[in-house]
Amino acid sequence: MELSLTDIAANQGSLENLMGHDRQALETFFASIGEKSFRATQVLKWVHQQGVYDFSEMTNLSKSLRSKLSSEAAFVVPEIINDQVSDDGTRKWLLRLEDGNSIETVFIPEAGRGTLCVSSQVGCALNCSFCATARQGFNRNLTSAEIIGQLRLANQLLVSAENERPVTNVVMMGMGEPLLNYDNVVRAMQLMQEDFAYGLSKRRVTLSTSGLLPEMQQLSKDCAVSLAVSLHAPDDELRNELVPINRKYPIRELMKACREYTRGLPHQKITFEYVMLDGVNDSDNDARKLAKMVGNVPCKINLIPFNPFENSGYSSSPLSRINRFRDILMQKGIMTVTRKTRGEEIDAACGQLAGKFTDRTRRTEHLQQIQTTGDLS
Ligand code: SAH
Repeated sequence: MELSLTDIAANQGSLENLMGHDRQALETFFASIGEKSFRATQVLKWVHQQGVYDFSEMTNLSKSLRSKLSSEAAFVVPEIINDQVSDDGTRKWLLRLEDGNSIETVFIPEAGRGTLCVSSQVGCALNCSFCATARQGFNRNLTSAEIIGQLRLANQLLVSAENERPVTNVVMMGMGEPLLNYDNVVRAMQLMQEDFAYGLSKRRVTLSTSGLLPEMQQLSKDCAVSLAVSLHAPDDELRNELVPINRKYPIRELMKACREYTRGLPHQKITFEYVMLDGVNDSDNDARKLAKMVGNVPCKINLIPFNPFENSGYSSSPLSRINRFRDILMQKGIMTVTRKTRGEEIDAACGQLAGKFTDRTRRTEHLQQIQTTGDLS
């Protein structure tokens, strides 16, 4: 049985939340209470594979150990406060965290696989001009427990007699920039790959980043999952505007880092994401420049039709334009697919995730000022 947030609150501060502990962290925990390290794998299986969070039900642990554990630790996951299903089967959950903030997680079912889109932060500190999450500002990083909790909850809610492991793929493409929450994201991704937990291969876990170079380099050493990079423009001038982190990590260096990421990994390709913005980045010339730019990187390109939100100031390129853009890239020998928009009518599509939280930056205030006064200062 799962402990509710109120149960936990009753124990205020006295219980350690072990939900986000990977195998190593759990082994350290057990050593600290004088227990053998194999307890870690036993407990991992109960929690992450069976969905049993209550120590009293972990029957392969001695009674005395169970009661000792119950007085010291707990497994806590976020609370589901809204559950929406779209016409195409895409499902979106609004999850409430212990501090009252909320985040969103999306499940996308497809033939033969189920992909979970996981959030890494409450809001986002980056300021990409076409993203709804960015407009809401930033509150904080998610803990590893809150990150892996999204996968645990999804598996629990989706499991059925026919389908024991409904989530077959994870994409770190929800709210936030995962590489700005490096340690917690890596710990959660270790758990995703852990045989005694979810057993997902590196190929089935994808991290999407706007291109933080030092962290990309570190990731290739610590946890070389599949990498998606949000590119969105064929030159620095436009990318500075759309993805402002480009001012710090410009395209040339980004391409070099992408080549290096794939170097140690035969068969690994970078997925470049490219949002199709009508009249902004979608001309034939843009496609040719893009092809040239990524030419030396083992890669494929995902074209993403822009998903609209209020006051975005952008619209999506029409399908005929997207197809033409794709054809040019394909003619240049670059594998290109157009990402199917899923869950749009429940605002679950790329860039539409919002959640509810307090902005701790002054971004929302600043935006309101611009909207009401037109003052850009
Ligand atoms: N911060 C990470 C993770 C976000 S992933 C990153 O930048 O990669 C979400 C993907 O959807 C990114 O490629 C993002 O640029 C894209 N996206 C954001 N807003 C969008 C919108 N309104 N329509 C379509 N795609 C969008």
